[in-house]
Amino acid sequence: MNYLLRNGRVVDPAQGIDQMGDLRIRNGRIAEIAPTLTPEAGERVVDCTDCWIAPGLVDLHVHLRDLRQSYKETLQTGGAAAVAGGFTSICCMPNTDPPLDSPLLVRELIARATRESPCKVYVVAALTQGMRGEQLCDYAALKQAGAVGCSDDAFPVQSAEVLRRAMLGCAAYGLPVITHCEDKTLSEGASMHAGAISAQLGLRGAPGSAETVHIARNALLAHETGCHLHIQHLSTAFGVALVRFFKTQGVRITAEVTPHHLLLTEHACASFNTNAKMNPPLRSEADQHALTEGILDGTIDCIATDHAPHAPFEKAQPLALAPFGLVGLETALGAVLLWNDQLPQPLSPIQIVNLLSTAPARLLNLPAGTLAIGVPADVVVIDPTARWQVNPAMLHSKSKNTPFAGMELMGKARYTFVNGELRFEAG
Ligand SMILES: [Zn+2]
Ligand SMILES: [Zn+2]
Repeated sequence: MNYLLRNGRVVDPAQGIDQMGDLRIRNGRIAEIAPTLTPEAGERVVDCTDCWIAPGLVDLHVHLRDLRQSYKETLQTGGAAAVAGGFTSICCMPNTDPPLDSPLLVRELIARATRESPCKVYVVAALTQGMRGEQLCDYAALKQAGAVGCSDDAFPVQSAEVLRRAMLGCAAYGLPVITHCEDKTLSEGASMHAGAISAQLGLRGAPGSAETVHIARNALLAHETGCHLHIQHLSTAFGVALVRFFKTQGVRITAEVTPHHLLLTEHACASFNTNAKMNPPLRSEADQHALTEGILDGTIDCIATDHAPHAPFEKAQPLALAPFGLVGLETALGAVLLWNDQLPQPLSPIQIVNLLSTAPARLLNLPAGTLAIGVPADVVVIDPTARWQVNPAMLHSKSKNTPFAGMELMGKARYTFVNGELRFEAG
């Protein structure tokens, strides 16, 4: 099926395009962009009035729970959540079960995702064997198998010496080292941010230093080893300041922030809501403001969801026992556009699409994030002003753990195309 997307606002940061017009998808590829195009025989015309026509969104940070945790999520349901949220390319974190620490497992996941997932799935492989922070993986083989970066995410390498060797290995094969920055000796037993609310609730908190100590350490090691260091889910004001500083020193450092850290604070935990329990935790208002500043001045490169599904029975436990994480793919766009609407000077559509698509694609060299003529048509049609209330039951993800339940968000994907095929259409 060929499509003519008509009368939208065509936004492509990669080509600097922001213009009213039409976009044609023919034989799975972007065929034409022009102020007005005439419908051709056999083409479905999609009315995009008041909508943006943008490159499909790209999420560098998704947990798909494959294979033995499929009660939380599968390649199919995770992919369905992605396209419903406007994402056409996602990166699978390696803490699947079994973890993605060998070329065989990486190849196998890519092959199955190609068959089962409605969106494109890239693999971030493990940085150390079993994500235990001890033995290095075979980076050359992982790269050859298709890995786009290496990370131990929630099991961050605690030994600086091991991390330094891992960075040298990854640098040799051009693999970015992607780190969740957490000194576990500082965050042991924490359920939330260490601050006024944790004191009030009588719960153990993780101080901001648990993150910043590792950001500084990792950036210093990246400077020595020459690797590309990508910092996951930045959550603290000092963390933003450190990334800003190391960028001025010429370190190859990039950073992401999540929609929930932009929009929520530690106050979301005040009612013992386990869906507001995540790692890194929601922090103070000062931290939240610093993250916004970090986006505005370019310190933070992109937005990523850290989509982390958990079953209802797991999140039904007391706050101290419940697992960390939230589902984020379907609320990301609505949360980001609501956050943007609250800024004194909102970002332009081109800046928003850059943060959610073009910048993350470039960061990991993914073939995505542009509407260039001839590329596979990964396209999202976004209604940027649609107000909608989050109803967990309506989510496509197998898990429903969202802290945004009942909240009104702003902005929604209307149509999502992957390789020119319509994979999601809002009801
Ligand atoms: Zn993490
Ligand atoms: Zn994660």
